Amino acid sequence: MPSIAKPKPTCVECGAVVSKAAKRCQKCWDGRRGVPLRRAKALALESLHEPLQSFEAAYKRWDKAIGKMHDRYKGPPKKPKGRERFVVIPDIHAPFHREEQLAHICAVEGPKATKAILLGDVADAYSFSTFTKYERVPFADEWAAVELVLQSVSEAFHEVEIIVGNHDERLEKRVRERLTEDMVDAVRYLTGGTLNPLVALAKRYPNVSIAKHETQDGATVDWFTTEGDCWLGHPQSFSRVAGSALRRVEDYISDYEAALNLQRYRLVIIGHTHQLSAIPYRSGQLLVEGGSICRTQGYQLSPRLGGRPQKNAYVWFEQDAGKTDLNSFGWHWFDVA
Ligand SMILES: [Zn+2]
Ligand SMILES: [Zn+2]
Repeated sequence: MPSIAKPKPTCVECGAVVSKAAKRCQKCWDGRRGVPLRRAKALALESLHEPLQSFEAAYKRWDKAIGKMHDRYKGPPKKPKGRERFVVIPDIHAPFHREEQLAHICAVEGPKATKAILLGDVADAYSFSTFTKYERVPFADEWAAVELVLQSVSEAFHEVEIIVGNHDERLEKRVRERLTEDMVDAVRYLTGGTLNPLVALAKRYPNVSIAKHETQDGATVDWFTTEGDCWLGHPQSFSRVAGSALRRVEDYISDYEAALNLQRYRLVIIGHTHQLSAIPYRSGQLLVEGGSICRTQGYQLSPRLGGRPQKNAYVWFEQDAGKTDLNSFGWHWFDVA
C-alpha cells in the first residue's frame, strides 16, 4: 500500500533525498562549477610540506606571509627604440656595492639602453676569499644581495650580459682545491655543469646571459665579450701607472688575435682596475677603464701603500650596425657629481 505522507524532497541533480530547505544534496552542492577548483587551490596553499620541499613552496609561503597579491619579478622591459646603446656596469662587488649608484644606473639608463653589460666581479664572494678577513659575511647574506642585484638589472634592462670576474670564480677555485676530481664531477652533475653560483643564478632570468666568446679551437672564454667592434673584459691586470693596464690588454688582444679569434677593436673597455680613464690610442681607437660602483675595500685602506684610490663611475656607448660611434662614448663619475 503506497504511503499517504507527502513525498520527501529530493536533490534536483541526483535525486537523492535531501532536507526540506535544500535543492541539492551536499555532494552536488560541492561539485557545482568552479567550486572544486577554488577549493583545490586553497588546499594546496595550506598543505605545504614541512620541511619545505622546493623553492616554489618556500616562495609561496613567503608570499602568504607578506600578503603579496602577485609576482614581484616584473620580467624584462621592451627594447627601447632607436640606436643600439650599451651601458657598462663595472665592478659591483655585491654586497659591498653602492646601492644608490646601481639604482641611479637602472633608473636613468634602463629606459634608454638596448643592453647592459656587467663588467665582472658582480659578487664579491668574500666568504670564499683566502685573504685575512676582518669582517664576517656569510654566503647566504651575500647571495641575497647578489640575487637582488641580478633581479633589478633584469627588470631594468631589455638585455643583460655578465662577464665573469676573478671574484665570481672564487667558489670554483675553493671547490677544486678541496675536493677530488671525481667529487668535482659529482658536484657539477648536481648543478647541471657549473661550479659558479652566478652562472647558476643567471639561468633564472630570461634576459640575462653569461659571456661566451668562442676561440678558434671551439673552446669558450667567459672573462671577456665583444659587441661589434668593441671588446669588453675583466683581465686580471693592474698597474699603479695610469693607463698601463689598458696598454697591456691592447697588446694581449693583438698577440692573441688568431688564437682567440679576435679582430681589431676600436673600443676596448676593461674592469678589475676600479679606475676611470679614457685614452685615445692608435688611430681611431679608444681604451677605457670603466670605473666601479662598490665601496672602498678594506685592503685599500691598509698602511701598505699600493694602487690608486678607486673611482665610482660607469660608461656607455652607441653603435650603428656593430660600428661604435666613438663620439657617443660617455661616462658618469659619481665621486664628482
Ligand atoms: Zn673588482
Ligand atoms: Zn676583478
